[in-house]
Amino acid sequence: MTDYLANAIAIRRELHTKPEPGWMEFFTTARIVKELESLGWTVHLGTSQIGLDQVMGRSEKLVEENIARARKEGVSDKMLKRMEGYTGCIAEWKTDKPGKVTALRFDIDCVGVEETDDPGHKPNANGFRSCHKGFMHACGHDGHTAIGLTVARWVKDHADELKGTIKLIFQPAEEGVRGGAAQAASGLLDDVDYILGSHLALMCKSGIICPNPQDVLATTKFDVSYTGKPAHPTMSPELGRDALACLCTTVCELRAMTPHGKGMSRVNIGKIEAGEFRNVVPAHGTMQLEVRGATGEINDYMADQALRIIKGTALAYDVQYDVVKAGEASSMSNDEELIDLVTEVAKKVPGVTQVIREMSMGGSEDYTMLANRVQAHGGKSDFFIIGSDRPGAHHQKNFDIDEKSLGIGFEIYKGCLEKLNK
Ligand SMILES: [Zn+2]
Repeated sequence: MTDYLANAIAIRRELHTKPEPGWMEFFTTARIVKELESLGWTVHLGTSQIGLDQVMGRSEKLVEENIARARKEGVSDKMLKRMEGYTGCIAEWKTDKPGKVTALRFDIDCVGVEETDDPGHKPNANGFRSCHKGFMHACGHDGHTAIGLTVARWVKDHADELKGTIKLIFQPAEEGVRGGAAQAASGLLDDVDYILGSHLALMCKSGIICPNPQDVLATTKFDVSYTGKPAHPTMSPELGRDALACLCTTVCELRAMTPHGKGMSRVNIGKIEAGEFRNVVPAHGTMQLEVRGATGEINDYMADQALRIIKGTALAYDVQYDVVKAGEASSMSNDEELIDLVTEVAKKVPGVTQVIREMSMGGSEDYTMLANRVQAHGGKSDFFIIGSDRPGAHHQKNFDIDEKSLGIGFEIYKGCLEKLNK
């Protein structure tokens, strides 16, 4: 008998030592593929599981650096070649019996947080802290991946009892909502009848499951750059075009955008950089911003306003501008059939103390991009929350999960597969 909880904990701890940020998960992807292929899964890797025109927020330079690191950490050239520079994978298990196609999604990336040195922090006390300086699994995606690989093992162990097809999506770059749209655009999910996803911890304690989280915001991220002209600021300022002044005006205009009356609308300018030297008219400026909305319509309204402002200030200051979409997620719409299924299954899982149908989650999730694709083809979706006691909040240096919740997550996916594919 396989001890599935022990399997999940061991994988989670191993992955915790090697956190990799979005689109850089080369070690992680190699580890996932090795496990899946040893279990007999068919794995789609590299560009076969990615719609290249939907890839957002990926830096070629960082990709090269991280491929080099993964190679140093033992990932073979053959495996790196199969990845073609693109992380994540979609695995498939076809049974020989007709039945539904069920997809489960697990995100695999980390965040840019330096893990605490506190000796009481469990990864320090138990020797599995991050060995990638400045990066940490501080959102629990190591746990998500561990649950996914444990489900993969269970499917192999119970293959003769199952029907239909099971797909496991190991998604890169969830942070910044950059990877979901690209995997959705691969087309590999177009035949999916049911898709499920989840997040550990977030707003609830161990034992609590929420099968229909609310207030998951649609969002669009933009990287903006302005290019003006340098000039001497006293002798010939009229020859210059001031990208820094343009940027500052843009920030003020964006902050003053008209909100939407039908629901929550938000804008945040998270980073600006501009200028070259004290006595030169600044010729370059860049900005990272995001808009969010309670619905896709409200988010689109905010994005349209922002784009008009970005373009309008460029015209006013006579500078060139460039806008790149760096991330995207839509609002969440779970289907009743699967909300009910997750509720029914969760209630019977040992360790689950309470199933709270609706709770406010806030934030955004690009699982929604995968769900949208499945729903557009007539499939159904549910995204649920697995409570997990934790000392720190998400994205903080002392974040940790209650590893028992890995077992609860695994049991819920297992229970759903038993209902949908058995
Ligand atoms: Zn997360």
